[in-house]
Amino acid sequence: MIQEMIQEMNDQSIIEPIIERLNRVFEDISGLSGQSMRIMEVCGTHTRAIAKSGIRYLLPQEILLLSGPGCPVCVTPEYYIDIMISIADREDVILVTFGDMMKVQGTCFSLSDKKAQGAQITVVYSPEDALNIAAHHRDKLVVFVAVGFETTAPLIGVTVKQAKAGGLDNLFFLTALKRMEPVIRFILQDERNKINAMICPGHVASITGAEHFRFITEEFGIPAVVCGFESQDIAAGICRLLEQLTGKRDKKFVNLYQRCVTPNGNPIAQQMINEVFDIADGEWRGIGTIRNSALVLNDQYRYLDAVKRFEIKNEQYSSPLNCLCSEILLGLKLPKECRLFGSICTPEHPSGPCMVSSEGACAAHFKFGGDGKNG
Ligand code: SF4
Repeated sequence: MIQEMIQEMNDQSIIEPIIERLNRVFEDISGLSGQSMRIMEVCGTHTRAIAKSGIRYLLPQEILLLSGPGCPVCVTPEYYIDIMISIADREDVILVTFGDMMKVQGTCFSLSDKKAQGAQITVVYSPEDALNIAAHHRDKLVVFVAVGFETTAPLIGVTVKQAKAGGLDNLFFLTALKRMEPVIRFILQDERNKINAMICPGHVASITGAEHFRFITEEFGIPAVVCGFESQDIAAGICRLLEQLTGKRDKKFVNLYQRCVTPNGNPIAQQMINEVFDIADGEWRGIGTIRNSALVLNDQYRYLDAVKRFEIKNEQYSSPLNCLCSEILLGLKLPKECRLFGSICTPEHPSGPCMVSSEGACAAHFKFGGDGKNG
């Protein structure tokens, strides 16, 4: 039955042994009498890949896969969207952003609303596109909305350095860059979510190195794997975690994504982050302030910070979320537990940020479905 249900896993020589292992682990789990095993994936790309692959359909009742705060759009605070909007309202500005940010609501509006009202907002696929836009519109102030994690930060760092080296005095950066390690600690310290194991953020690990996440097992005593994004990678990762949770293997941290993630990561990308950014406390939508969880432009590049350039006051305001996004980001609830899911809240008309990006937990569940028990 399991074999029939996995449609994407087309390399049988790889997947068959994994299915056999999963079946053996499931036999052990059937004796757990209602005890659940809660596995969190922290990377938004994993969230989407898990939903798309249909892996949830395979899992027994006892295994819950929870999505963490690894979607940068989902965790960008409302007041930051408001800042973007106030900047976009200026006639002398072109706001440049990744497409995912467009539909996220601030306190009252989204960037899509503002664009419909005539604001100059351009969607790009790479931070470097902002350089070209600034070079071709010297009569405008160009502001790049820099959101993301350690995966995106090096590219943004390169762009910042190129802006300075090229003497572009009309390009600025509105940064809302986050670090993954502090938020993982924050989540694991929250005893309410009872997380038993973790799938580590593979994209971030490709920059920071797998060793960056060893603390999950060593400090919090739970199994953790770095795994890739193909169906068979994820199945193998879950299998490895379950083998540890059921005592078939010793509890330890494992890098199963060695084809892309080395123990110590990408030193050039790390150096780029270190050259351009300082670490600061960061604000996470639905979660609050987490110490040392943000990357901000350092002294050398702070003059390129849009908040400084436009003298924006840091008036943080967040209305209470009229949804369960906060609980979902913290691994306390599943999308199906939100009464707005799929009725009032859809990807076309998102009520909360988890429904906006394709990497948000609610959007992934809406698009690819669940099995009724795992969401
Ligand atoms: S369904 Fe919509 S409103 Fe509910 S938690 Fe998800 S994003 Fe928020």
